[in-house]
Amino acid sequence: MRASSTGSDGGPSLQRIEHWINGRTAAGTSTRTLPVFDPARGTETGAVRAATPADVDAAVGAATEAAAAWGTSSLSERAGVLFRFRDLLDRKRDDLAAVVTSEHGKVRADALGEVARGLENVEFACGIPHLLKGAHSSEVSTGVDVHTVLQPLGVVAGITPFNFPVMVPLWMLSNAIACGNTFVLKPSEKDPSASLILADLLQRAGLPDGVFNVVHGDAEAVDTLLRHPDVDAVSFVGSTAVARHVHETATRAGKRVQALGGAKNHMVVLPDADVDAAADAAVSAAYGSAGERCMAISVVVAVGGVADALVGAIEARIPGVVIGPGDEEASMMGPLITEAHRERVRGYVDGATDEGARVVVDGAAATDRPGFFYGCTLLDDDKPGMRAYDDEIFGPVLGVVRVGSFAEAVTLVNENPYGNGVALFTRDGGAARRFEREIEVGMVGINVPIPVPVAWHSFGGWKSSLFGDAPIYGPEGIRFYTRPKVVTSRWPDPASSTVDLGFPTTR
Ligand code: NAD
Repeated sequence: MRASSTGSDGGPSLQRIEHWINGRTAAGTSTRTLPVFDPARGTETGAVRAATPADVDAAVGAATEAAAAWGTSSLSERAGVLFRFRDLLDRKRDDLAAVVTSEHGKVRADALGEVARGLENVEFACGIPHLLKGAHSSEVSTGVDVHTVLQPLGVVAGITPFNFPVMVPLWMLSNAIACGNTFVLKPSEKDPSASLILADLLQRAGLPDGVFNVVHGDAEAVDTLLRHPDVDAVSFVGSTAVARHVHETATRAGKRVQALGGAKNHMVVLPDADVDAAADAAVSAAYGSAGERCMAISVVVAVGGVADALVGAIEARIPGVVIGPGDEEASMMGPLITEAHRERVRGYVDGATDEGARVVVDGAAATDRPGFFYGCTLLDDDKPGMRAYDDEIFGPVLGVVRVGSFAEAVTLVNENPYGNGVALFTRDGGAARRFEREIEVGMVGINVPIPVPVAWHSFGGWKSSLFGDAPIYGPEGIRFYTRPKVVTSRWPDPASSTVDLGFPTTR
């Protein structure tokens, strides 16, 4: 798991972060490691193993070995493991949140929120005996019954992004394991440690060895999983470019694939909206987690006369956002994940003026702390065709696009290649109803800026935000992690048995 080692210069020790294969930590076959940082201080704190194809093969081998017994385990046994896992996770909330804060940088309340939303998915999966009830039709023909059974797929691979190191793995593994599959997780190499706490808790909950495995690393590990003949399905969450690659590669290898990608989420504000409530929501949803959320609001679409007041209200709130390390009580917004990412964000802001946007607030100098901080940034007169509008920045940069009408706002959102989340702020029920029907986005908030569905619905964007047509978690998650089998049966009454070569029809 995590083992201390002293730096070669005798300096501060680095945590060595190992794989988890067949119920125990494994160093793997390579000495190649990737650096892990405390982004709030800019210091390297760990070195995570980078799996080779042989390491991935060992993890998939363990999962394959465990699949037959776990796939036929009773529903009460699986539910029992999940209930115990849920209780252990509940008691570990603080420790998990602390690890998330130390490697990701998000503030403590945000990290605790992530753990809480992940727990919801475990709680949903605790209901697996109910969720796997197949359909039954009695007497479809004289003496003939039909029933459907939902069987596991086998070995599932989960590949997850840095921005939710607890919640996104729980979106996947809870339902996959509950459905009787075994699982190999490849977490983000940027904040890998939380996955090992999950592995430990699953083992303590009674999950048999080999059912849940973790391999760390980068593209080499991912590509090996995507092509591995014993991996039956792949769940991916990350950026659009990688999601597309994952979908194409794993589909070509004959696997079932769901690949959730990036986003550019718009918040449309109609002239009748409460400006203060809309500004509060925009600031919270744009700058929470330093904008590193796939459901963050990155564009406010100000309709008609509301623009000046709205831009003013957002600008007025920015100085109130306290920037600092996530483990300091007063901090409201932490750092970005890496120095390279901060420089990428800076590049968008620096280029915005040349492209014709107006930089109302530039967060570049918001703090002189040593970590990877970038403060809240507000761009007015943002437009399609500008890099800051077209690209997913994934930082604390909010653009404002001014449009003249509701119809223009809907067209702007629908023409955007992404379709993860969208929000409408209004007091007009008729406009909200029309918006809900016309907007081409997978998750819609009406006066709700971050409409992440609860665990008993499913999460999934449209267009370039989801490849493979299968939303994640909730009922769609159960569907994704099972194969239906339809059984038609007759128990013949010897008294009426006869030879009949005709095609079976209902009688
Ligand atoms: P990323 O795509 O860089 O990495 C995601 C995973 O893919 C990681 O495990 C990484 O190791 C692996 N990976 C990276 N490059 C690869 C390559 N070339 N080949 C194979 N594997 C590769 O994403 P990230 O930076 O970790 O996370 C941020 C992105 O994830 C944002 O775009 C965000 O919108 C998106 N995201 C989407 C959702 C959603 O539900 N739609 C949720 C969270 C994050």
